[in-house]
Amino acid sequence: MIESKCPYLTVPRLAAVPGLVHGFGEARWSEADFLAFAALNGFRPVIMRQLHSDIIHRIDGAPVKKLEGDALITNIPGLLLVIRTADCLPVLLVDEEKQAVAAVHCGWRGTEKRILEKAVKAMVEAYGSKPAETRAALGPCIGPACYEVGPEVRDRFLHAGFPASIFVERGRLPAIQVPNLKGRYLLDLREANTWLLRELGFKKTNIFNPGPTCTHCEPRLLSYRRNSADPRRMYNFIGLL
Ligand SMILES: [Zn+2]
Repeated sequence: MIESKCPYLTVPRLAAVPGLVHGFGEARWSEADFLAFAALNGFRPVIMRQLHSDIIHRIDGAPVKKLEGDALITNIPGLLLVIRTADCLPVLLVDEEKQAVAAVHCGWRGTEKRILEKAVKAMVEAYGSKPAETRAALGPCIGPACYEVGPEVRDRFLHAGFPASIFVERGRLPAIQVPNLKGRYLLDLREANTWLLRELGFKKTNIFNPGPTCTHCEPRLLSYRRNSADPRRMYNFIGLL
């Protein structure tokens, strides 16, 4: 993933796909900026009221009322699927052959409900997408060094079938970053969702990451844990021209 002069990050492999528009917005890119960008490019943005659920909407046209849920799939050009984040992981999916896309909101609650897996299965059912041929871009999110959770969260993930390896061991991180670890765990949201994709048959080479970018550590990104009083969210989007 490279940083361009644009106020959003893109994945070079996806930027090379004809007719595909995508990006992970930075803090400086406001809602007004995003809406102007969508209008300028002839897109109808689809923005949900996000619930940390596993509710997925298949979009065949611009919705007449605001949707509630946490994932959108479409194969209709001119619609811009949006996920708003501040620490949660935004995932964008592309099936080039079937010309279908998805945007998925993966916080810990949605991840534990396997929303990403359910969104992929929705693409398979709706468009005949093949996981082995589908590409995924995982945007910036809170990194494991900064994402402390309680034992009840870990228990829920293990119960949902996730491997214990998505929780980072204390010895792997400098102690100064992780005080008060007794009975607490560090959750790797990116690893949890990468694991789900691999279980579904996604190829390693079709999963793209911005590297160690952590919303909590990077001032140019928004983090709810760093500043919960800030109502702003980053705009992550994908659409077909
Ligand atoms: Zn961090």
